[in-house]
Amino acid sequence: MKTNPIIRSLVELGGLFLPRVCGGCDRGLRQFEESLCSHCVADLPRTRFHDDPRNRVEELFRGKAQLASASAFLHFSRTGMVQRMLHRIKYHHDQQLALELGRRMAEDIKESPRFSSVDVLLPVPLHPRKERMRGYNQSQLLVDGMRQAWPVDDLGRGLVRVVRTPSQTKRNRLDRWQNVKEAFHLPDAAPLKDRHVLIVDDVVTTGATLEGCVLVLREVPGIRVSVYTAACA
Ligand SMILES: [Zn+2]
Repeated sequence: MKTNPIIRSLVELGGLFLPRVCGGCDRGLRQFEESLCSHCVADLPRTRFHDDPRNRVEELFRGKAQLASASAFLHFSRTGMVQRMLHRIKYHHDQQLALELGRRMAEDIKESPRFSSVDVLLPVPLHPRKERMRGYNQSQLLVDGMRQAWPVDDLGRGLVRVVRTPSQTKRNRLDRWQNVKEAFHLPDAAPLKDRHVLIVDDVVTTGATLEGCVLVLREVPGIRVSVYTAACA
């Protein structure tokens, strides 16, 4: 979805004069609430996957990509609160909501023994053209929010997206995996040597994009790689 930067600025400026609404249910927010109302915070469909080594996200990668741990914060459904939140973050420029969601993601896993040795966060990159159109990378915003609650490093643009992934619906499975692996490039491996890297994305469905990242990182000596997303479909 293409957004003209001038229109985007006007929308953001307009937002200053509109009543604040909850990113999960559109209810008006009370002063002490951030981007989500207390009802939505209480009802967040948490997966509680982080301490389960056989959770659904881990199973997606089993036999395909060697991971230390994998988890997702919330269950995704096409009609529910999580779908509304992710849509607002991607298409309505609700960056505050992304930061709050990121912070809650970190609070959920930072004490878990399976993730406590993570020492650097790495957002899944967007293609530069797509990031320019949107004005930001939503995964980077999740990482920024996570670091408000969890003092670990951020590798920011350490991983680069090199090709636009073409429509994948007509390709066979093997082509598709080859395609995602070639979509990422790691310009400098040194900062990741011997570290436990947590790759962060907004949503995991087939796991193909994340697997592309993992395959590229696997070349780094001594690295351990884990995966964490805001939601899993
Ligand atoms: Zn709400």
